[in-house]
Amino acid sequence: MSLQEQLSALTKEKYGKDIAACSNAEVYYSLLNLTKDMTAKTPAIKGDKKIYYISAEFLIGKLLSNNLINLGIYDEVKEILAANGKKLSEIEEVEPEPSLGNGGLGRLAACFIDSIATLGLPGEGIGLNYHFGLFKQVFEKNLQKETKNDWIEEQSWLNKTDVSFDVEFGDCKVKSVLYDIDVIGYENGVNKLRLFDVETLDESLVKDGISFDKTDIAKNLTLFLYPDDSDEAGNLLRIYQQYFMVSNGAQLILKEAKANGYDLHKLYEHVVIQINDTHPSMVIPELIRLLKEEGIDTDEAIEIVSKTCAYTNHTILAEALEKWPLSYLEKVVPQLVPIIKELDKRVAAKYKEEKVQIIDKDDRVHMAHMDIHYGFSVNGVAYLHTEILKNSELNHFYKIYPEKFNNKTNGITFRRWLLSCNPELAAYITELIGDGYKKDADKLEDLLKYIDDQKVLDKIKDIKKEKKVELAAYLKETQNVEIDPNAIFDIQVKRLHEYKRQQMNALYIIYKYLDIKKGNKPTTPLTFIFGAKAAPAYVIAKDIIHLILTLSEIINNDPEVSPYMKVVMVENYNVSKAEKLIPACDVSEQISLASKEASGTGNMKFMLNGAVTLGTEDGANVEIAELVGEDNIYIFGEKSDAVIEHYEKADYVSKDIYDEDELVKEIVDFIISDEVMAKGSKENLERLHKELIVKDWFMTLLDIKDYIAKKDQMFKDYEDQNKWKKMMLTNIAKAGFFSSDRTIAEYNRDIWKLK
Ligand SMILES: *Cc1c(COP(=O)(O)O)cnc(C)c1O
Repeated sequence: MSLQEQLSALTKEKYGKDIAACSNAEVYYSLLNLTKDMTAKTPAIKGDKKIYYISAEFLIGKLLSNNLINLGIYDEVKEILAANGKKLSEIEEVEPEPSLGNGGLGRLAACFIDSIATLGLPGEGIGLNYHFGLFKQVFEKNLQKETKNDWIEEQSWLNKTDVSFDVEFGDCKVKSVLYDIDVIGYENGVNKLRLFDVETLDESLVKDGISFDKTDIAKNLTLFLYPDDSDEAGNLLRIYQQYFMVSNGAQLILKEAKANGYDLHKLYEHVVIQINDTHPSMVIPELIRLLKEEGIDTDEAIEIVSKTCAYTNHTILAEALEKWPLSYLEKVVPQLVPIIKELDKRVAAKYKEEKVQIIDKDDRVHMAHMDIHYGFSVNGVAYLHTEILKNSELNHFYKIYPEKFNNKTNGITFRRWLLSCNPELAAYITELIGDGYKKDADKLEDLLKYIDDQKVLDKIKDIKKEKKVELAAYLKETQNVEIDPNAIFDIQVKRLHEYKRQQMNALYIIYKYLDIKKGNKPTTPLTFIFGAKAAPAYVIAKDIIHLILTLSEIINNDPEVSPYMKVVMVENYNVSKAEKLIPACDVSEQISLASKEASGTGNMKFMLNGAVTLGTEDGANVEIAELVGEDNIYIFGEKSDAVIEHYEKADYVSKDIYDEDELVKEIVDFIISDEVMAKGSKENLERLHKELIVKDWFMTLLDIKDYIAKKDQMFKDYEDQNKWKKMMLTNIAKAGFFSSDRTIAEYNRDIWKLK
């Protein structure tokens, strides 16, 4: 049967209609079934050793298009639909986006499982099936409000299995149920994403917003990712979730090892566990506990686990490095406490330094320290980040275990971040250099031979324009805002955090607004686009959202200014929105305080789609700059060494800059001007204004002047169209290094050693 016949058989059987007579939703569910049928016929990836990638988040995005691409039937399906008067892009809108992640870390895990399957490596993701995900962001009165993200439908990519384990906590016992999502390699076999859940979950616990009764674990365990941890119950719930995840993972791993007849004494010859940040760190003591139950003695169990587990560090922000009070662990996972104490005792016997202990003198358990002592590999996620880990943040550990430390610069899957989100650009690249780049991303460099080819340069810009028109139409339809596709699209989309410095971008917008008011009109109009969720309990982050929304209201409604600049904050930024925003971007904002963004992956997605980066020397920006050369990127701001020194000496005083620089004072004070206060909330604006002057922990004012100058230079350079087009082409051509296929090949070569 041809694909066309299979699809119409499905629509007839399910809905009694031909494809053409079906609604978009009916076509979507038929395609879901077709894809699942085809996946079931695709061979599973097999091998003698398997990677288990354990992560609290998998921000996988919608799956239909990507699965069609990876099965090699995307173009054919598109044609079949077109022949029946349907558009794949409209059918995609029916699919709810799985809400299983938060930001870059979860998106990385999703890119990695795609690349693991694409490289034909046996591997599984292990995580949790959060029914209401992170949260859905809505704006009300220029403020962020959170609601549940109810993404699971009757028919979905989730496949219920009959795998179930008992998980015991200090005060109760729950039974798990395992759901799988197939992970299809690009023109390769199939792996699985394993998502554990509890059958006793009670969704009705959540009434308004995202609050719920945190007491009954069997009913609330997998409601939300990162439940609010501003109180003790929220913290405990996170520990319940983490243990539930790792205990199920460890039980599954041992069950599979036994089913394969592997010798548990040599588990590490068949199993490698990658611990994605510290949320899954309890897998170490849990696996030791389970091996002991199998009759293996403590010394050997510790040794086996230490040869099996590897740890990825994602951040140097102190507040993000998990330290659980021992008393919490005693309540939730008393069976792990003697093991953690034993691990701690062995460390304390060998190393006296306070900074490398697992349990500190306040009885807090440092999860990362356990990972470093009892894992065989510690990796950072970009060159600069790993250097900072080795030389400052984790220097005490690096001195003990230099051989464990290694760098794996992050990457992104080109299937989603080029082929699927920008099929026009992908098709044109294929026309120019063939489709070898789809499996060997470095081949994108072949594009450089067209650097002086006017036709090619024009066409790349035309495609950018087409994507800007599409985005403008989408924003008009979804948020009723009008933006001009001829404007420069300057985009900052990422989680809201002070270190990412959306507030600095907002200050630039104030500067530009005041400048236009003074009569200095930009040659090409400017459109500033933001997208960002703030953690529900992160007050200043929400104040920054409030400022941006308020500025947007003022500026977009000012007839004197709005022809020259617009400000848009996209609601509920997620993967689907990213896929629409990134191909339409001219200026990619990557302006974190140097040393604070471990890698970033948004920067890579933008580059691949022909945006030019405006960034600090931080994370993977450093590697982007090295690849494209200084003429094809706009770098500004204090360097990481100097920033680290400011923290060490505690000598940064934002108020000095504010007092001494008239322009800085003018734009900062505009936050609490009558004009802004008239539209915004006094409490939020005053708090943010004060924060910038008396604290500014992430040194916004340190870099603001340099940022303004660089950004103005960039907008000026945009007027030289050929110069800009060449920068676009160079960025696309040099993006190959950031394919997650390269990253995963390196993980496998240096850490996992499969095949
Ligand atoms: C890529 C991505 C991120 C990470 O962006 P950064 O700029 O690297 O922080 C966050 N959220 C979504 C939806 C993404 O697709």
